[in-house]
Amino acid sequence: MPQKQDQPLTGFENLDLSDEIMRAVAKMGFTQATPVQEKTIPIMMEGHDVIAIAPTGTGKTCAFGIPMLEYISLTDTRIQELVLAPTRELAQQIGDEMTKLAAFIPEVRIAVLYGGQPISKQLNQLKRKPQIIVATPGRMLDHMQRGTARLDAVHTLVIDEADEMLKMGFVKDVCRIIEAIPPQRQFVMFSATTNQDVLTISWKYQHDPVEITIPATQENKPRIAQYVIPTERQIKQEHLQYLLDSNVYNRVMIFTNTKDMCRRLSERLNKLGYQTEALHGDIPQSKRNQVMNGFKRGKFPILVCTDVAARGIDVFDVEAVINYDLPNENEYYLHRIGRTGRARRHGVAFTLLCFTERVRLDEILKYMDAQPTYLHFDDMGILRDQDDKPFFENI
Ligand code: ADP
Ligand code: MG
Repeated sequence: MPQKQDQPLTGFENLDLSDEIMRAVAKMGFTQATPVQEKTIPIMMEGHDVIAIAPTGTGKTCAFGIPMLEYISLTDTRIQELVLAPTRELAQQIGDEMTKLAAFIPEVRIAVLYGGQPISKQLNQLKRKPQIIVATPGRMLDHMQRGTARLDAVHTLVIDEADEMLKMGFVKDVCRIIEAIPPQRQFVMFSATTNQDVLTISWKYQHDPVEITIPATQENKPRIAQYVIPTERQIKQEHLQYLLDSNVYNRVMIFTNTKDMCRRLSERLNKLGYQTEALHGDIPQSKRNQVMNGFKRGKFPILVCTDVAARGIDVFDVEAVINYDLPNENEYYLHRIGRTGRARRHGVAFTLLCFTERVRLDEILKYMDAQPTYLHFDDMGILRDQDDKPFFENI
């Protein structure tokens, strides 16, 4: 998609970055800083505490990853910087993105620590004396208690997806980690939304934080076409197959509400000849990584998942998100559809809606101020838009 020329976005060259980072950013294919990067990078580089609220998919990882890498002392072998993330997948992804950013700083060592992975593997990572750690709170505490990771030389702490982290009941763990870090550290929080817990942590532990809010404007809002398809329970899977059979989307995420449904739907689709994998909380971590990586690399086109995969995970070019079940929580609708239309690409989201769920959907749409387009199947089983035109050209 061509960039609009009249949008005065800052190039990375105005941000006073090192050659190594400039080269990495160029290699990653970024031409201009996103608004959250443009605002956060200089303030973090000045050493301020920050609380940044920005919609999903706006490039928050690099917004903190770049200043973190600029401020590392390569000769110091202690842990200097820590990122906390709510889920294993997200921690892994942040580690990957920061590794790319560090492509031209070979002395940087990043360790990613999360539960469900053998401690021994992580001990090996820690023996390499990483300067940067990306971790989930539980596993971080684990290492602190074992004495395998010390945080007393940390000068920068970042909490990503702070709202989610605190909502997931990590408040106590997070506080214990913060308190193990020297008080004069820089403390930065990133979040898609604010809530009371986020504000409390900020009030308790941040020093004069600079608040950065990036509204969900037309420019940085993911461009996601949202469609709702009324259906019924007995024919929902048939309607799902219709969408898959359109052969328009090569990488699709299908969301279900329960692990059971996730597993069964994936199995049923595979029996019918679709290539899918299931991703939910009961799948062992090593397998989850394998599935996620396989999907990212395009080894199979359809990922059937629960909300484990909804938050923060960035898969390059998911073309369509399908809500097979309507999410139970309003916010999840946004996180799910946010898997597509990332970083100014176009995306499409379908919600298969049973009659009984209509009130719930209205609540969700009110919450997120969205107006989706309603589609319908005609008597011949053809999907049509509001003007009765077939939705897919060749089906
Ligand atoms: P968020 O944390 O805000 O949800 P991410 O950090 O996961 O967003 O970034 C979303 C996607 O945008 C990633 O694929 C990332 O590589 C890409 N991205 C980040 N910064 C830029 C940029 N300046 N230009 C283009 N793409 C970018
Ligand atoms: Mg993020």
